[in-house]
Amino acid sequence: MRIGVLALQGAVREHLAVIDRLEHEGSIVKEAADLVRIDGLILPGGESTAISRLMDEELVRRLSQLARDGLPLFGTCAGMILLANQIEAGKSCRLNAIDITVHRNAFGRQIESFETKLTITGIGSNVPAVFIRAPYITRVGDGVQVLAYHMSNSKTTSSSLGFPVMAKEKNVLVASFHPELTDDLRIHRYFLAMVEAAN
Ligand code: GLN
Repeated sequence: MRIGVLALQGAVREHLAVIDRLEHEGSIVKEAADLVRIDGLILPGGESTAISRLMDEELVRRLSQLARDGLPLFGTCAGMILLANQIEAGKSCRLNAIDITVHRNAFGRQIESFETKLTITGIGSNVPAVFIRAPYITRVGDGVQVLAYHMSNSKTTSSSLGFPVMAKEKNVLVASFHPELTDDLRIHRYFLAMVEAAN
């Protein structure tokens, strides 16, 4: 399969390397014309405001349309922010592809980065997850399934499960963290299974 990676800023190479290890073809997407002939698209982590600024109107329009048409999309960290319907504190959204609200840089300054292990529905347990100035999800719409939660030591939540950090709605998968920075390929395999099922 041919998997596009949005390559405007952020952890692009790392996702391409994982796609290669899983023996599929990675393809760089910088503009709307690059969206042809891809079976799925990964939106990497980085800085959502920077990526957002670098996306031209045509790319936003075509990508939003492909999302509605069912192209499998996987947003990690900043990529999740780009796909969300709503961002806390009023920043505008770009793609409106999944009915969640996200809180940027939500785990606070002192622990801007940390690594943990998650149990992920449909994937398994002890999945390593690297959080870098990560967002978490503060609201999920009716059609959204939360796949993983993280119980933070420094942040309190009324939910006994912790903060939602991975979710899926139809063809759209999002994670607060960076699965491409670990050697565990299970999350990318899960996304590739979504792509395979859609084709
Ligand atoms: N803090 C970044 C943002 O708000 C996301 C960080 C990341 O992608 N690792 O866009």
